[in-house]
Amino acid sequence: MSSRSNVAILAGALREFARNTGWMSEANCKDMDIELFFPTDGANMDPFVREVCFECPVIEDCAWYANESGSVDGFFAGMTPKERQAWRKKNNVMIGMSREDWENS
Ligand code: SF4
Repeated sequence: MSSRSNVAILAGALREFARNTGWMSEANCKDMDIELFFPTDGANMDPFVREVCFECPVIEDCAWYANESGSVDGFFAGMTPKERQAWRKKNNVMIGMSREDWENS
């Protein structure tokens, strides 16, 4: 394969990554301590974290990102893993499913 083809493939992959994660630059948590969202000591969610999430402009992208990535740890979109499980059940969402797949299901 030519290096030109490799560059095209890489550019496509980067565009796809930006499309999927560009919203992260608008996240309220982008400069916050990751430990608040993934506590290594198993702590419950700090109510402050929930407030930050509920005021976050990309909360929906975040919820779908967590779902699509299949993450069962950490706090995303103001939800604990258990709350995300309830969210999936309520909305008939399978873990790993993208928003697009869910909208077309
Ligand atoms: S909703 Fe998601 S992106 Fe926004 S602050 Fe919370 S964890 Fe971060």
